[in-house]
Amino acid sequence: MISEKTRERPVTYQDTYHKNRSVTGVETLDWKDYKWQLNNSIKTIVDFENFTGIIFTEQEKQLLEKTIKKFPLCITPYYASLIDPENYPDDPIFRQAFPNPAELDISSCDMKDPLHEDKDSPTLGITHRYPDRVLFLVSNRCAMYCRHCTRKRRVGDKDFVPSREQILAGIYYIRKHREIRDVLISGGDPFMLPDEYLDWILTELNRIRHVQVIRIGSRVPVVLPYRVTNELVHMLKKHHPIWLNTHFNHPRELTLASRNALKKLANAGIPLGNQSVLLAGVNDCPQIMKKLNQKLVENRVRPYYLFQCDLSEGLSHFRTPIGKGVEIMESLIGHTSGFAVPRFVVDAPGGGGKIPVMPNYIVSWSSDKVVLRNYEGVITTYKEPDNYQPINCRKDCSKCNLNRKHERKEDTIGVEKLLANQIETISLTPKDNERMERRTKKAE
Ligand code: SF4
Repeated sequence: MISEKTRERPVTYQDTYHKNRSVTGVETLDWKDYKWQLNNSIKTIVDFENFTGIIFTEQEKQLLEKTIKKFPLCITPYYASLIDPENYPDDPIFRQAFPNPAELDISSCDMKDPLHEDKDSPTLGITHRYPDRVLFLVSNRCAMYCRHCTRKRRVGDKDFVPSREQILAGIYYIRKHREIRDVLISGGDPFMLPDEYLDWILTELNRIRHVQVIRIGSRVPVVLPYRVTNELVHMLKKHHPIWLNTHFNHPRELTLASRNALKKLANAGIPLGNQSVLLAGVNDCPQIMKKLNQKLVENRVRPYYLFQCDLSEGLSHFRTPIGKGVEIMESLIGHTSGFAVPRFVVDAPGGGGKIPVMPNYIVSWSSDKVVLRNYEGVITTYKEPDNYQPINCRKDCSKCNLNRKHERKEDTIGVEKLLANQIETISLTPKDNERMERRTKKAE
């Protein structure tokens, strides 16, 4: 939609920043001050034009205005300075940050809340989907509004900034549910909260004895690395074990400023992970993904997930076939260090959670041999053991030689249930299965 013509451009902050690594009219100290960055965020098309020197036609502007009315625009000057104005239509930074009128094309499979986070929400701000962990949304503010955000429905909506009472209601829920051992704090971006407020939330969570670990999801190291101040890191350190997952999608995002932010966090003993989203025209390339993941590891960030793009409204132009993700995994597994390989997952529409998708490495199977192939195409056999004594786990734990008699017996669900020896379930049947309905009627 956006014209590919490079137009004559005025000299901008961005030009000067790229050339001199400082910004005309802006003191370097200001530039590195995250509050300055937030106060000078680009929120209009005109601001963007003035900042980057990229000029749009009147027709383009009309469409862009329509787009940001539905999905607001907000880019930090820092992130905007990474855009290559000479080749902006194909620029991965531009595509993640700048609106595309294609966002207005809502396809029939698009959903406002494809992951049913709201339906799985027992109380405002909490999504309780998995047995032992919850998602706790503590802020709807983000440093930048990523165009591919799965929570587009919420981001930028001022009415959703949770109040102290609402946060306390979430904490109360977590306190009441003793099975919750892991809390993922997300949003929005938790690092958009003032240090003292986040400190308070973390202190409250740390008081809950059954909460063993707190994870924070933040894109700040990517789009506003100056927010990772010494004060923030010092505060986080008090609340260990804290884990942090960030969201780099392209190797160009690992700038000196970002790397410094990651270094501060890693030096504070915070294990770092990365969740990328597979995005058409941004990173749907095995070489880009390999470089990204290798650079992450170099900066002590463990690639954690590669997400298939969700079915959220306005994202159809970003979606790739799932096969593209499998192709990327094929080019990563074995081709680079195992810990530089994320897990490719589809977050199941309807709230089924993350489903891992992999290339197939099992070629065939017999009762005593498995035939496998490796990343080079070598086909090999693994001889199954002759004398393996299967442990009838869960049958009678007190007699089990694995000595777990004091541990709580856990319920089995899904395919795990079919594999459990002592359980008589031999199949799993959907609720509305017609054949089963006929059986019920016949019995009546
Ligand atoms: S930082 Fe995360 S929550 Fe915020 S807009 Fe970007 S992807 Fe969405």
